[in-house]
Amino acid sequence: MLDFKIPLEWIGECAKSHPECSNYSNSSTAHTPIFPTRLINVCPPDGNIRLVPSKTKAIGEEYLTLSHRWTSGMYTTTQRSLKSHLNRLPFEKLSVCFKDAIKITRQLGFQYLWIDALCIIQDSPSEMQDECLHMKDIYRNRAVMLAADRVENSKDGLYPARLESQSTPMPFRDTNGQQASQWILSNRQPAAFGSDVIHGTLNSRGWTLQERILAPRILHFGKSQLHWECRTSIWWEKTDFKCEFYTPIVLDEAREMMTAMTRKKLRTVSTRDIAGISNGCTHYTTWYDLVSAYSCRQLTFLGDRLIAILGLADFCAEIVQDRFVWGLWRQDLPAGLLWAVQATGPLTRLAAPSWSWASIDGELTFYIPSTKWGRPLHGTLQKTCEDIVIENSVIAHRTYANGKISCLCPLTLVLLSVFADSNENEKDSFDHLRKQPNATVREESSRRVIGDATLDDDSLLPKQNFLQPLPLHTMMLYRQDAVPGDCQLKLSKKQIQMSYCLLLKLGVKDGLFRRCGYAEIDPKAFSNAEVRRIAIVWGVVVFTTMHLARFLPSASDTA
Ligand SMILES: [Zn+2]
Repeated sequence: MLDFKIPLEWIGECAKSHPECSNYSNSSTAHTPIFPTRLINVCPPDGNIRLVPSKTKAIGEEYLTLSHRWTSGMYTTTQRSLKSHLNRLPFEKLSVCFKDAIKITRQLGFQYLWIDALCIIQDSPSEMQDECLHMKDIYRNRAVMLAADRVENSKDGLYPARLESQSTPMPFRDTNGQQASQWILSNRQPAAFGSDVIHGTLNSRGWTLQERILAPRILHFGKSQLHWECRTSIWWEKTDFKCEFYTPIVLDEAREMMTAMTRKKLRTVSTRDIAGISNGCTHYTTWYDLVSAYSCRQLTFLGDRLIAILGLADFCAEIVQDRFVWGLWRQDLPAGLLWAVQATGPLTRLAAPSWSWASIDGELTFYIPSTKWGRPLHGTLQKTCEDIVIENSVIAHRTYANGKISCLCPLTLVLLSVFADSNENEKDSFDHLRKQPNATVREESSRRVIGDATLDDDSLLPKQNFLQPLPLHTMMLYRQDAVPGDCQLKLSKKQIQMSYCLLLKLGVKDGLFRRCGYAEIDPKAFSNAEVRRIAIVWGVVVFTTMHLARFLPSASDTA
């Protein structure tokens, strides 16, 4: 059994001494506290743990949440079981992790707990959609988030698997053989935050990125011990908690970005902003970095690709004052479209337009210069597309059938040759596609090499002879030129002059294309190109209509 003295001290110290953590959920003047639809009452008078409708009862009290990995066979609330769960939650049927979370909530002195699997009706798409609308507030408004960092299956509990603490003294003697000092060697790491949290099971999961970023206070149940993480501090069990403050060195990417975003929201300058200005960072840069980090995480349900990051999108929308469009931002679409995918396995096409990163399950890189995973910006960057229009046609259930965008930009025909990087050990002949870049771009008329490209997937390649050049269209979104007289840059001519492009496959109608890759091309290839209105559409025919309304702009964007 855990000693709750330490976490209670942490909660008290953070509440007393960290205004940044306490004010976090009230930092927006437009912010009104929103509670989840239901909470679990962990200590009702009759002893029966049950779900309570929180909105109707106007519960003003604080609640805890649980961040956990979804495991197979997990006991959840369904439309059928809701009625009985409002009377009594069958404690005996819950996973060990949920049982532990309920006990810990009580021991920390709280009455209410929110667990997604139990508080949201899992077979109700409309409720899932409604609850997703305020996911940002569910995580921000709670008191503390319990993080099940080590739980991998339904049998694992929250409590740390404590290492037996073993220590041995190591004396140092002076020249006379007298003991001058001594060290204690211990098998217990004083600061296991890296192995317990950053490399914990939970931190590789898709949903938990936004949970961890949005939560102002987290109590981590790591495999070796408890850790505290809040806006200003990271503490662990053996720490003198009043001396340990937040340093970026101990924090991983997600938390660092969150801090940058929060500071932008609070209108104070962060070090990241200062570093970014000369590199051409924009308000959107953090978003592209977040999506790149998010794309490496795993989801139990691939259909959650956009939904699991929606809370972060809502948070980001307040900062950039822009509209979220299929994982990108309306006012920054030319930059947002410049992503490339690095497959680590066979790719799955998901329910999103072909121009959205959310249409592909794979690790992403955004190539607009200045993003963390892109390159630093040298020279000047000129946007070469204009008049972007997003077309929507509203169908039933507030969803949209059409993910079509169009714009005016230079278009030219190129030939694409996939890299002939034959490795005899490769089991799959298309393994070479899992690299960036994975193809050479040639001018159609002269066959001169003009750049390289990364195909989104191998669906366009002829299975028999995939080395055969593939005729494709390419549209230029940005052109980068060197700053005149900027001679200290030891870059090749190719790097100094560059165009950032999308590869397109012509659809059934002229002017209607499907995105099929990303390319960097010598801008001279566009010297005779025509400027045309180009529309990019869905790449997949079958798609679900659930949740889609949230990712699309309002009717005012309709052409
Ligand atoms: Zn704090």
